[in-house]
Amino acid sequence: MSFKDLQFSAPILKAISEQGYDSPTLVQEQTIPFVLDKNDVITIAQTGTGKTAAFSLPILQLLLSKQDAPKRGKTIKALIVSPTRELALQIGNNIKAYGRHTNLRTTVIFGGAPIEPQIDVLTKGVDILVATPGRLIDLQKQEVINLDHLEILVLDEADLMLDMGFIDDVKTIEKLCPAEKQVLLFSATMPFKVEQLANNILKSPKRIEV
Ligand code: AMP
Repeated sequence: MSFKDLQFSAPILKAISEQGYDSPTLVQEQTIPFVLDKNDVITIAQTGTGKTAAFSLPILQLLLSKQDAPKRGKTIKALIVSPTRELALQIGNNIKAYGRHTNLRTTVIFGGAPIEPQIDVLTKGVDILVATPGRLIDLQKQEVINLDHLEILVLDEADLMLDMGFIDDVKTIEKLCPAEKQVLLFSATMPFKVEQLANNILKSPKRIEV
């Protein structure tokens, strides 16, 4: 299978090829079609399998397909919640690289760093937000972040997120989003707590295990 078979449009295919990716990894091959079809998805995959691109590429594609709609405003369309600053930054850098030939705007926010620059960027308008849970809730409380028009929510490294004690934050964040949305959950393992969270948040999810 090639990335072309997965129905990506030219600006995304160009960025993929610039990354030096020849063909999709197994997790990408299995996850991407379900995401493009707007399913909720649970993907059980370790880091190193190409899981970041498995959600990032189809999210870019879905948002790109809708982009000629007149409402290209200041609303966040996709949110990726990540347990740590390092992971969030890595995801953000990947999405920026994959989206470099589109005009979709991506930003990363995390705790332990000055909040003002993050507020400045968010105020200008962001399409895709990558965030750690605490700072996200903080900025939402300050009314800098509005998730009312969110279309896609990604919970990355869900098992690690719960291990780190973010369960209540994750539930809070999900409730800040519209009920009608696409949810993607990625986890290296599926302990009972993650299974429970998935049952509460995802609707008839497709399940992929690599
Ligand atoms: P991840 O599992 O998302 O942490 O990705 C692991 C590494 O694989 C990253 O350095 C990616 O840049 C790389 N990668 C992702 N997808 C592909 C692909 N289709 N072909 C080659 N490398 C890839």
